[in-house]
Amino acid sequence: MHDAPLTRLHREIDARVASIRENRPDWLCGKGCDHCCRRLAEIPQLTVAEWALLKEGLSSLAADHLREISRRMAALGRQSSRPVVCPLLDESSGACPVYAQRPVACRTYGFYAQRDLGLYCHDIESRVAAGALADVVWGNHDAIDRQLTSLGASRPLTDWFADWENRPD
Ligand code: SF4
Ligand code: SF4
Repeated sequence: MHDAPLTRLHREIDARVASIRENRPDWLCGKGCDHCCRRLAEIPQLTVAEWALLKEGLSSLAADHLREISRRMAALGRQSSRPVVCPLLDESSGACPVYAQRPVACRTYGFYAQRDLGLYCHDIESRVAAGALADVVWGNHDAIDRQLTSLGASRPLTDWFADWENRPD
């Protein structure tokens, strides 16, 4: 049986991330470093396959936790200022409650660069500017975007969540 396209994309990203982290045990990304989740340029955009996976993670959360996420989603929908904090982030621990099911953009952040925008993470970019990490072969985010586009249209996380919440039982 062939893997689903999203699974193949995850595997490709995992390989790039592993090769960048190899021999760099002090790499900045790790549990508790949540600056990227706290300053998203926009509400996360997910394809249907990414949402289907994320929904699995959300479904396993406790009812209280989901209610809190629901409250944050609604507040984010009303927020016009940018950047935004991800409504899924556990702000006290800096952890992602759906880490295993997180969207592609969360997997590539810190390890991929875009032709016109460069690296997304300012913390890592500062290290590069200081002359470190010169030998890193960054992933190509333009190629990831093309693969995501081939998976279908994307919608804001808040829209996916609202439809899920309002689904008929
Ligand atoms: S991408 Fe940057 S902010 Fe995000 S976990 Fe990695 S080092 Fe931290
Ligand atoms: S889904 Fe998880 S990893 Fe992605 S921005 Fe939100 S809290 Fe961070």
